[in-house]
Amino acid sequence: MQNLKVPSLFRQQALIGGDWQPAHSGKTVAVVDPATQTVIGTVPDLSGDETRAAIEAAEAAYAPWKKRTHAERAALLQAWHDLMLEHIEDLALILTTEQGKPLDEARGEIRYGASFVKWFAEEARRIGGQTIPSPTPDRRILVLKEPVGVCGIITPWNFPNAMITRKLAPALAAGCTVVVKPSEFTPYSALALGVLAEMAGIPAGVVNIVTGMPAAIGAEILANPTVRKISFTGSTPVGSLLMRGAAGSIKRLSLELGGNAPFIVFDDADLDLAVEGAIISKFRNGGQTCVCANRILVQAGVYDAFAKKLTARVDAMKVGPGTEAGVAIGPMINEAAIAKINRHVEDALSKGATIVTARRTLPTGPQYTAPIVLTGATTAMQLAAEETFGPVAPLFRFETEDEAIAIANGTPYGLAAYFYTESLKRAWRVGEALEFGMVGLNTGLISTEVAPFGGVKQSGLGREGSQLGIEEYLEAKAFHIGGL
Ligand code: NAD
Repeated sequence: MQNLKVPSLFRQQALIGGDWQPAHSGKTVAVVDPATQTVIGTVPDLSGDETRAAIEAAEAAYAPWKKRTHAERAALLQAWHDLMLEHIEDLALILTTEQGKPLDEARGEIRYGASFVKWFAEEARRIGGQTIPSPTPDRRILVLKEPVGVCGIITPWNFPNAMITRKLAPALAAGCTVVVKPSEFTPYSALALGVLAEMAGIPAGVVNIVTGMPAAIGAEILANPTVRKISFTGSTPVGSLLMRGAAGSIKRLSLELGGNAPFIVFDDADLDLAVEGAIISKFRNGGQTCVCANRILVQAGVYDAFAKKLTARVDAMKVGPGTEAGVAIGPMINEAAIAKINRHVEDALSKGATIVTARRTLPTGPQYTAPIVLTGATTAMQLAAEETFGPVAPLFRFETEDEAIAIANGTPYGLAAYFYTESLKRAWRVGEALEFGMVGLNTGLISTEVAPFGGVKQSGLGREGSQLGIEEYLEAKAFHIGGL
């Protein structure tokens, strides 16, 4: 990869027990720049054998890592955090080249990713325990917090940096060691994090990174009893598959899965604020986020005005390579993503929706798609039932608050929801009625390291970030002391 200030951040090998390695078979997987369709490089296509070696390396590193004081682990995490910010330009360029998002958004993701490392470096010192009053005078009862053990970390392509740090930082702070399997579409951001972890002085074997196609690696992570926990971010079908696979050795699970976020604009909303929120929530990362507004529900009284204001903003968005100045919408990750977006839009148009944004000429390349606003969306359309994962803003019209809540909750997913109102009473009613793990009132921004992130229903299990995030990597041991 060209134009990196520190070229060694671009690694094309897997990291196992402190060694950078190719696959034993010599097989590789090509990684493609979605903006240009050119091959950036390759990574090893590892098998179950190398995955087992990575798990063994994590197991060997576990006992000494667990024994370190919390302050020592915190200091290493802090050093890793500082290196991320020091190398933010290189990390952002690697991210944009393999994933496509605009460079400014990539820089934002690196800062967001690093914020989890700092947060959990701080939280490491606050892993406490409990003393419990004993039922008899000759006993004492303590609750000790201990690390879960070796963790398998499986992450998606849409946030190739932050989805990793959001898991690794609490895992390492708690005293766990990890085997990370990044998405085969975006492995270089993960490998760069591995280089920086080494530079920070995190011991060999604490962080192992296995690359390649998911089936063989996933099968070993699931079957190997040394792996005590799997933390996964990705689609609901793969999450469900991992849950079944983890049952064999009763592993703990954290699952951050798909969403189908409603974004509700009531008649009494501040429309400019709502449009701003919709732009952030719908179009960040080209609409390829799990918390992105998938169904924009607008009350009849402000429907036309909201549609007009949103359309004006979307028409002004520039589409192009993420490395070009001023670009708001980069290429989509692959042609399958484009096919899904097209399928949803064609289905909506065939069922009565209208594209109200202006026609535009797109840059050359199969993975560019125009950001659009669709009016006349209904719940009979595919885009109401599934995440579109693209820059398509469908506007559904509703009449009453009850109707909006029923539509919003009418999904098996429960990750994020947003609503806009200036009424205090409505704010409480709707906030409490929405069946989602995260709710934004008058804001489209709900991701921060200080608040719990996660979903209910088929959007997953567990929470990341906040004070809760580290609990996912800790076991409670009841320690009874008798005969006093
Ligand atoms: P995906 O489920 O296809 O892949 C996610 C990861 O799982 C990748 O690393 C992939 O290689 C791996 N994987 C696939 N099959 C596997 C198997 N059999 N065994 C082990 N690993 C396997 O998801 P994606 O397309 O990379 O990401 C998009 C999805 O992620 C969307 O549904 C989105 O909503 C979701 N997502 C959720 C959150 C959240 O926090 N809830 C955040 C980002 C993305």
